[in-house]
Amino acid sequence: MSDASRDKPVHVAMDQFQSADGELLIGGIPLRRLAERVGQTPFYAYDRGLLSQRVAELRGVLPAGIKIHFAMKANPMPAVVDHMARLVDGIDVASGRELKIALDSGTNPRDISFAGPGKRHEELRQAVAAGILINVESFREVAELAAIRQESGWPVRVAVRVNPDFELKSSGMKMGGGPKQFGVDAEKVPDLLADIGRAGLAFEGFHLFAGSQNLRPDAIIEAQRKCFDLAVRLAEDAPAPVKFLNLGGGFGIPYFPGEQRLDLTAIGANLKAIEEEAASKFPGAEIVIELGRYLVGEAGVYVCKIVDRKDSRGHTFLVADGGLHHHLSASGNFGQVIRKNYPVAIGDRMSEPTGETVSIVGPLCTPLDILADRMLLPDAQPGNLVVIFQSGAYGASASPQTFLDHPRVVEILV
Ligand SMILES: *Cc1c(COP(=O)(O)O)cnc(C)c1O
Repeated sequence: MSDASRDKPVHVAMDQFQSADGELLIGGIPLRRLAERVGQTPFYAYDRGLLSQRVAELRGVLPAGIKIHFAMKANPMPAVVDHMARLVDGIDVASGRELKIALDSGTNPRDISFAGPGKRHEELRQAVAAGILINVESFREVAELAAIRQESGWPVRVAVRVNPDFELKSSGMKMGGGPKQFGVDAEKVPDLLADIGRAGLAFEGFHLFAGSQNLRPDAIIEAQRKCFDLAVRLAEDAPAPVKFLNLGGGFGIPYFPGEQRLDLTAIGANLKAIEEEAASKFPGAEIVIELGRYLVGEAGVYVCKIVDRKDSRGHTFLVADGGLHHHLSASGNFGQVIRKNYPVAIGDRMSEPTGETVSIVGPLCTPLDILADRMLLPDAQPGNLVVIFQSGAYGASASPQTFLDHPRVVEILV
């Protein structure tokens, strides 16, 4: 528990949602009515209007030629993927099962790409049969794809996922630079490109992804610039022209006190410069950024109900029917070093003043099951609804739902 998060009310302005008559509105529906409609708590609700709005805003700032892909591991709910598929230019998948959902959404296989370390042989075959772009991450993958090509006679579309020789500064989760299980180290890429050429695979380009949850435009700009320059260097050894250049993303959203929404103006200008340079260095190539959290994170809430209120030696605990098993990220156990509170509200007491400092915990028999640690909130009783904001990404699918075997969470798109 960190001192910074103590005794703070809803501390990030969650102005993407309005309330009326003391109740939070999701897709225009008052929270209690929505809970009745779902038929249970806990549930996740995603607001389709906010999803659309986010993509529209992004398109407003990015140069027209930059393609936006949705990294669906951030939220693989099929209805969300279907909705996103109509808004973005492509979907990035990270498993054979995600591939199925992406194909079901009607996305053209041309615009689906597949990244992830440890792609199984069966998954590689599925990807080849589907005709999607495979971001290869090892020499083993290239060898297996060569065999699949030999046997099937189908074209095998590949891009090389590169582990860059630099790191993304101030990124919540580093996924490139130094020793990493992702991609192929930049210095080994020339050898890998030679293998790809010999095997007759259809080389299409490069994929570089340096990290996640970054809120600093300067760091993102520097990473995109370095990724682009690295791709230019690596392309000298490529067996075919670059048709596709994925510069990653890593755009963050605010979760904690003091964090602000990312200002995209400078990022847009930087991508404009990259786009212009790409026109001469990689004529006709698609320049792509792939985003997960940034596209969906702010559009979702997690809602659970208070089932008990307990006083323990002067400290008040509100025990909810949901917790870590549905929302590992909000409990602070999904890669966070220091636990901080997600923005939380009592969703059916939105006009009440804050009155007491409480901890909201889940029903699991582990002290890790915390949704809010010592937060200043309006007085709440059993039956009131707890809302965790910023829950549209890395929520249900990133949580250990079978742990202790409480009811599964329901997800809706409103
Ligand atoms: C997880 C992942 C993303 C999405 O990251 P966000 O931080 O959610 O935007 C994008 N690309 C790759 C390769 C990933 O593994």
